[in-house]
Amino acid sequence: MNNMISRTLKDQFLTLELDRPHSSANVIDFDFFDALNQELDFLECHSEIETLYISSKKKGIFIAGADLNQFKKGMSIEEIQHLIRLGHDTFSRLRKLPQVSIARIHGICVGGGLELALACDYRIASDDKSTKIGLPEVTLGILPGWGGTTRLPRMIGLRKALFMILSGKQFNSSSALRIGVIDGIVKKEKLLTASISYSQKGKKVFPLFPFENHPISTMIVEYQARKNILKKTQGHYPAPLRALQVAVKGLRGSMESSYKLEEKAFLDLISDPISMNLVNLFFLTERSKRVRIEDIETPPVKVKKVAIIGAGIMGSGIAQWISSRKFNTTLKDIHPKAVGKGMAQIQKILQSGILRKTFTAVEARDTLDRITPVSSEIPMFHHDLVIEAVVEKLDLKRQVIKDLESRTRPDTVLASNTSALSINKIAEKMEHPERMVGIHFFNPVHRMKLVEVIQGEKTSNQTLTTTLEFVKKIGKLPVLVKDSPGFLVNRILMPYLFESVRLFDQGYSIEQIDSSLLAFGMPMGPLRLIDEVGVDVAQHVASDLLKRLENPFPETQLLQKMLEGNYLGKKSGSGFYNYPRKINPNLKILDYKSYPIASEYRDSDLTKMLVYLMVNEGARCLEESIVKGPEEVDFGMVMGTGWAPFRGGPMRYADTVGIEKIVQEMESYCGEKTPHFKPCNLLLEMASTGKQFFPQTASVVEHTPNDRNHGHQNAA
Ligand code: NAD
Repeated sequence: MNNMISRTLKDQFLTLELDRPHSSANVIDFDFFDALNQELDFLECHSEIETLYISSKKKGIFIAGADLNQFKKGMSIEEIQHLIRLGHDTFSRLRKLPQVSIARIHGICVGGGLELALACDYRIASDDKSTKIGLPEVTLGILPGWGGTTRLPRMIGLRKALFMILSGKQFNSSSALRIGVIDGIVKKEKLLTASISYSQKGKKVFPLFPFENHPISTMIVEYQARKNILKKTQGHYPAPLRALQVAVKGLRGSMESSYKLEEKAFLDLISDPISMNLVNLFFLTERSKRVRIEDIETPPVKVKKVAIIGAGIMGSGIAQWISSRKFNTTLKDIHPKAVGKGMAQIQKILQSGILRKTFTAVEARDTLDRITPVSSEIPMFHHDLVIEAVVEKLDLKRQVIKDLESRTRPDTVLASNTSALSINKIAEKMEHPERMVGIHFFNPVHRMKLVEVIQGEKTSNQTLTTTLEFVKKIGKLPVLVKDSPGFLVNRILMPYLFESVRLFDQGYSIEQIDSSLLAFGMPMGPLRLIDEVGVDVAQHVASDLLKRLENPFPETQLLQKMLEGNYLGKKSGSGFYNYPRKINPNLKILDYKSYPIASEYRDSDLTKMLVYLMVNEGARCLEESIVKGPEEVDFGMVMGTGWAPFRGGPMRYADTVGIEKIVQEMESYCGEKTPHFKPCNLLLEMASTGKQFFPQTASVVEHTPNDRNHGHQNAA
């Protein structure tokens, strides 16, 4: 017996309950395999035992996959190879047991956890919402390497197996049953009795070559899958291609030869910086879920009821999201029509959620029921948090907040969803500015996970903690930012967007600019992004930033001209592109056709110019201690803008290129008309002393949220 797995033997039934000590989750590492092998020794010596059940004692978790901390710096390739082989051997032993083996799955069962379950004869899952089944490895730049890539195509056919492996998605129980990866679904309380009935079915012999694993069928499936992967990843992510290759090639030989292919592919992928960057982002996401303030004297307010002021695009989006997370929500606007429009917008989001099976019709109805729409003055004292999302005007926001201050409880947190206005300025007229904070949701609220939590000069730690706890509770990922122009994401994004407009103005084509950045790995080019955000919104945020930044980026008349011509981007049907999307060849106001074709810079220069400006602005944010460290910059940009995740974020990318090289190249772009390419002091200093943003040998480094001081001390 060991302390990781507890064993209960009753008649001929043996139950192994997984319960990793001192941890909220079951994860797989060397110790886990040791423990499981001890149990397998026991089972192999006791042929009188007829049935093995595997379940978990953890709340909401069966097994959350491999312990990713293992892949941190220090684990040699030989050790990883040993771990892979240990997984193959252990799960093969489990598969070959004389007993009928049944995994009782309740909660998260992903990665190595599912690979363990796949080695059992049967998998019965609870219908609980917490039960999620999947193989997310490719999203971390690796592949299921403990037999998943080998076993799954043999069990459910190549096409369905690839659907699971290549998407990396986590499925609920009913989808998992449809795919065929589990054998049954029952209520959580019935897992025990249901699994007993499966034990009577005897050992399962799955068909080794279902019809669709015939070589001709697999050729067709492979061709289509490869095409889809390349379309989706633009060739930037090697893991899905390798997983596809292993799954297909693996089917042609024995299980053992397929394990060898899995092992080789896993070792190649894990040695690649791409997987390092993706695993790092995984850790940053986990870290964001734990971010908190240390010095807090007064406990945070427990938020139960929230009010949103302003029922426009953002207000209605925020209300929908918060209410769907079971908070009673008031949605208030001065105009009754705006309230009606906001509620209609919410219904639209809910309707599409039902179609996409994100939630059920009942859940959608409950979400709607929890929202109270109002357009007149109502008592506000029972609200614990109020978020204003009125029009972006400083005086209006000041007035709204000042009014709320006198009508709410002294401990009600007052928040602004401003895109760029100063939280300090909004709070200037308050008697208790310590109650004021920024909660910057991104648009569309139901899709964007990042939320910037903005700390004003006077924001109290109690206010900040209440806000952070609330943001985490509604399932968003907070990044803590100091009040400053554009906060973090817009501050870094705007110089990039405006540079793309300047380059277009210089004679570089829309296609050339956008495709260069697409090739770099951005989800869309900068000019198309302006169209998506709205030319008016981009211009508004930028004009505010330009007034307040110490090192402003060059202004351009072009966006103003576009506004005058009603080229607002996607929402007006025309911007840099015409919609449905096609490059707009007739921007008359821009006299587009008569522009000279510029050729001074190659595509690679355009990419560098645009990306380096983000690196420079990110470094300035660190100089000014706007966020704690380079990790926050990377996390914010990847989560807030989709910045090429496989490159790890702008600061990690800067390290990859080399700070000295970036400084040299920026200086070469810097000129009389382009002074904005002057590298900031931090970059200059780092280049001259050979420093990096992250420790040089770091591969997958996890820091706890509060293990660093403010500033850029990792730049060493
Ligand atoms: P919007 O124009 O769609 O909605 C603003 C709403 O506020 C309108 O319905 C208006 O009637 C209402 N309003 C005005 N004065 C009011 C008052 N005194 N009391 C109650 N309601 C009042 O604007 P939006 O796009 O939803 O933006 C709202 C805020 O969110 C702005 O500060 C904006 O900068 C910020 N923001 C916008 C985006 C975006 O992409 N739209 C993204 C992030 C943040």
